[in-house]
Amino acid sequence: MLTGVQVLLLGGDARQLEVIRKLNELDASVTVCGFDGLHTSLDGAVHAEFDETLFEGVDALLLPAVGTDDQGNIHAVFSDREMKLTGEHIAKLPQHCTVYTGMAKPYLRKLCEEKGIKLVELFDRDDVAIYNSIPTAEGALMMAIQNTDITIHGSVCMVLGFGRTGFTMARTLQGLGAKVKVGVRRSEHFARALEMGFEPFYTTNLLQHVGNVDLLFNTIPTMVVTAQIIANLPSRSVIIDLASNPGGTDFRFAEKRGIKALLAPGLPGIVAPKTAGRIIADCLSQLIMDETMKRGNGV
Ligand code: NAP
Repeated sequence: MLTGVQVLLLGGDARQLEVIRKLNELDASVTVCGFDGLHTSLDGAVHAEFDETLFEGVDALLLPAVGTDDQGNIHAVFSDREMKLTGEHIAKLPQHCTVYTGMAKPYLRKLCEEKGIKLVELFDRDDVAIYNSIPTAEGALMMAIQNTDITIHGSVCMVLGFGRTGFTMARTLQGLGAKVKVGVRRSEHFARALEMGFEPFYTTNLLQHVGNVDLLFNTIPTMVVTAQIIANLPSRSVIIDLASNPGGTDFRFAEKRGIKALLAPGLPGIVAPKTAGRIIADCLSQLIMDETMKRGNGV
């Protein structure tokens, strides 16, 4: 339980509603800012105006999936009011407080570092990334279906990258009966992909493998789907780039060649906000509980 734990939650989207629900269930004292436009109740959480005094006595500060932008602004879909996080706010936090976010921009990292406050980026964690790969793959599949006139079954799909997202993406496509080529750079990934019934190849040889691809899913967060690769794709191909902004595709050239190329960021929050919220909520509540226990034991 989180009885007596003070949590301040600033901004965010529908995913945060699951986080608030879970924290209330665990009996934390939750104060929220950036939900004034929401017309449903928040299960016992207290609404507050964004103000420096809110930061005093807080045990855990929760920020949205992308903590702040490069200027410190906190995105809040349920509010029109501005919230800008500054060093003065962070300085008010007790030294034992932890700041949690999905992923942090350098602005937030620097603020926390300067004030010696622990920052946890949840999307960096393997467990969260693997759970998140499920709604990501489902969202990518939805986009693929919407943007093609063929079935996934029987199509030739290519997945670039065999990490947490690529692995799930490849398996999901295989489950629907696609022929799945997987681009890897490590020999152990090559071996695993082969064992799982995919057609693996090394990304250094990508050019030789794109000639018959219907759907290309990229998860490599660097420029891999270059103009040269796109020039060799069949004109019917659709590229769905899942890597974080700006993706790994030469979108300008794809457009010039008339190949549909879509950058698809933040799919879990778009296609399954409830599930994505639960993934964050479960991990977050466990981490806060662990921190609370450590503090209680004087660690
Ligand atoms: P990950 O587990 O680190 O996987 C990335 C994969 O790319 C790894 O297999 C890595 O190979 C490979 N890779 C990296 N650089 C490469 C290069 N230069 N050449 C060949 N392969 C390379 O990351 P992830 O969690 O799957 O996430 C992948 C991307 O998707 C990230 O940008 C993440 O932010 C994004 N993402 C997007 C969504 C969405 O909704 N669109 C959702 C979740 C994640 P090694 O294993 O050898 O390093």
